[in-house]
Amino acid sequence: MEKPIYVTQPSLPDLEEFIPYLREIWDNKILTNNGPMHKELEKELASFLGVPYISLFANGTLALVTALQALRITGEVITTPYSFVATTHSLWWNNIKPVFVDIEPEFGNLDPDKIEAAITPKTTAIMPVHVYGNPCHVEKIQRIADIYGLRLIYDAAHAFGVKYKGGSILNYGDLSILSFHATKVFNTFEGGAIISHDSATKQRIDYLKNFGFAGETTIMAPGINSKMNEVQAAMGLLQLKSFNDSIEKRRVVANRYRELLKDVKGISMLPEPQETTSNYAYFPIFVDEKAYGMSRDALYEKLKQNNIFGRRYFYPLISEFSMYRGLESSSPEHLSVAHKMANEVISLPIYPQLDETTIVEITNILKY
Ligand SMILES: *Cc1c(COP(=O)(O)O)cnc(C)c1O
Repeated sequence: MEKPIYVTQPSLPDLEEFIPYLREIWDNKILTNNGPMHKELEKELASFLGVPYISLFANGTLALVTALQALRITGEVITTPYSFVATTHSLWWNNIKPVFVDIEPEFGNLDPDKIEAAITPKTTAIMPVHVYGNPCHVEKIQRIADIYGLRLIYDAAHAFGVKYKGGSILNYGDLSILSFHATKVFNTFEGGAIISHDSATKQRIDYLKNFGFAGETTIMAPGINSKMNEVQAAMGLLQLKSFNDSIEKRRVVANRYRELLKDVKGISMLPEPQETTSNYAYFPIFVDEKAYGMSRDALYEKLKQNNIFGRRYFYPLISEFSMYRGLESSSPEHLSVAHKMANEVISLPIYPQLDETTIVEITNILKY
């Protein structure tokens, strides 16, 4: 490829379309603190996603940190090592001990059959990730949470717009967290949100993201400043208009990859999830070194030499980073499925503008 092809390319509206939004902000001189754009985006997102309550954030990581504060999570939390590092960092910032549990081999989500063995008297919550936007075993996990009296917070950073059994995947668990980072399917440059299910919880979250202010002179908790500003919210309002179109284009790319790669020996893809409307956020492939005749890393380098920049999402596992490696639950023998997937994965470029010629060139390199 002449031009480098990256794992993703952010979706952007026409600049001309954004100017009227900026003019409105300049005119009314409200830049942040639950301004009109912010209010409008919360309303539109709740309706678009099909969720009862949404609180917007400056980014997804602060949404995760605040969600744990909102539910007063302490002690130990069961989570997955196969994710972006922010999932576990949000626990660290709350002084919570992460307890890593292995993933299931089908989609790479937290394995519900391995959760119970990791519960201790200190466990207060489970924090799974809908990795690549594919739904976790939500019913099974909820049953475990109910039996043990645990809270359930989903890191749904990959799952914007995903539907499961006809409704939003974001309606499962106590809270779900979204990220609107530039690399995600819906972006506000940086941004995030918490989905909640009752007005009191939304109120608490909204206080916590604004220093804990519950009135001019009342502070209800040591909150943080994690508010989304008006320019971000305006970008969100505009991005929402093209979201369905961009998912449709991603679907076409994903289907082309599936077709072109289906007979390549040693390369496997995730199955299509049942009863799910996907958002085609990522396209991971898994390289079986023996069957393929080349290691994952050699293939990754080969793609790079051809100006194709896939990413090894998610390698290394979070449990391998120095600040978490010492934990008992980080020992590789408990996380064999996660290690296998992390060692075999390459996420291929996928974004709405990725054209047929490039898709064919990428798959030709994989076919060698
Ligand atoms: C992107 C991401 C986050 C962090 O979101 P930011 O908006 O970048 O702070 C958290 N968890 C997962 C799984 C992510 O992919």
